[in-house]
Amino acid sequence: FSTIYESFLRNVQQHPEKPLFLPEDGEPISYAQTLETTHRIAAVLLEDGVQPGDRVAMQVQKSPEALALYLATLQIGGVFLPLNTAYTGKEMDYFIQDAGPKVLVVSPDTAEDHAHRGESGVVVETLGTSADGTLLRASGGHTDAVPRTAEDPASILYTSGTTGRSKGAVLTHGNLASNCQALLDTWEYTGEDVLIHALPIFHIHGLFVAANMTLAAGATMRWLPKFDADTILRLMPDSTVLMGVPTFYTRLLKSPELNREVCANMRLFVSGSAPLLASDHEAFEERTGHAILERYGMTETGMNTTNPYRGARKPGTVGKPFPGIEIRIVDRETGEELPDGEVGLIEVRGPNVFAGYWQMPEKTAQEFRADSYFITGDLGRLDEDGYLCIVGRDKDMVISGGYNIYPKEIEELIDAHPAVLESAVIGVPHPDLGEAVVAVVVPASGEQPQEEEILQFISGDLARFKQPRALRCVEALPRNVMGKVQKAQLRTTYQDTFT
Ligand code: ATP
Ligand code: MG
Repeated sequence: FSTIYESFLRNVQQHPEKPLFLPEDGEPISYAQTLETTHRIAAVLLEDGVQPGDRVAMQVQKSPEALALYLATLQIGGVFLPLNTAYTGKEMDYFIQDAGPKVLVVSPDTAEDHAHRGESGVVVETLGTSADGTLLRASGGHTDAVPRTAEDPASILYTSGTTGRSKGAVLTHGNLASNCQALLDTWEYTGEDVLIHALPIFHIHGLFVAANMTLAAGATMRWLPKFDADTILRLMPDSTVLMGVPTFYTRLLKSPELNREVCANMRLFVSGSAPLLASDHEAFEERTGHAILERYGMTETGMNTTNPYRGARKPGTVGKPFPGIEIRIVDRETGEELPDGEVGLIEVRGPNVFAGYWQMPEKTAQEFRADSYFITGDLGRLDEDGYLCIVGRDKDMVISGGYNIYPKEIEELIDAHPAVLESAVIGVPHPDLGEAVVAVVVPASGEQPQEEEILQFISGDLARFKQPRALRCVEALPRNVMGKVQKAQLRTTYQDTFT
């Protein structure tokens, strides 16, 4: 077993001069330079009093130094706690209060808003995007690393808060290292790869999938502050892998520049964090010759399943478990395992599964079975080839007139209508049925789908009780920064439709 920090160190020793970061503007930054920055940051964290097990929180814009802060925290045995840059005032108060970090690193331009935190014992440091800030003040570096076991916590990562208040998932060094290895092996990711990294690093996808894999494989990242279709298309001819959320692909498809030639050097496009539209999958393959590889994971577990690197990648599925990870589908009421093909709760077990929710022992206990399976809260079924299909979240399931309705089934039918770009199906209160189905629809460009026409279009394929009782057109679905549709928000917006 080696930690992510140790794997990174090995790569520094093997090829110190190799670029780790290729920033959009500016010089490449090598493995050795990154280690040097890491050691300087470690010296500052130690000066601030960080002991093994202490939390180091960060809310800064993406930069190479922000990743060095992650590495420095791991090096000295700290627990890394990255926070979404969109969080403000009260939200930040909650996270800081909940996690009790020793150090909080913020952008120089927000430092003043956090100055008061000093009173509660939090040391506030700053880090900007032009290698500036108090965090980089040390002239010398600290080189010793604190040895860690697989069970020691490495990070607390807050969930995206799609279904309620974000929970802090405690991830161990063993969780990170084992999942990273499974990803490297399965996707055949090596030191030869050049990754286009356009994801945020406060979320599992950008940090523990994309960045960890690169650090451990000794590969190179094109380090972009955010998603920009033109930039990515320009960089593709000299890159090999792109990891993205589904909206990346929706937006790339809008560009006329996307074609086989620009993608000729690329070997892998990965999508995850939210469902990829089957139509985008098909359109992308038609335009580029590449089948996007969709995988399924969550903050609490890292990556659980993936479509195969070699073999059929099936649109609308998230593939099979990574090696060493077990998946089962159980009845949502009884917890009994269900036969293949039936829809139930997805449960997962393996070295990837987190140690528990930070300071929420009851919540943690509730989400685990006696045999160590973690209850994901997602609903799915296994198809005839054993591929997992996610049908939605348990909390988004609609119960209408006593029947269970899975939104995805209805969404797929609606999405197949040519006047529809995408849709979200929700349940809202209904006086007779308990809940009734509402379809929220985003028209395809230049189209004006009519309620009657869409309902007519899907009616032949859908039992009467599943049919939407109302259809609403909107310009765009509400999404959070990770591209996740905010169904709770939609339920609030349309709660009075039938009452
Ligand atoms: P919270 O737990 O706070 O409500 P969240 O579940 O959105 O927020 P994350 O851990 O970031 O927080 O997201 C994990 C969830 O994202 C999964 O449980 C699943 O619902 C969804 N997800 C991830 N990948 C896919 C995918 N490929 N297809 C469909 N859903 C996915
Ligand atoms: Mg969740």
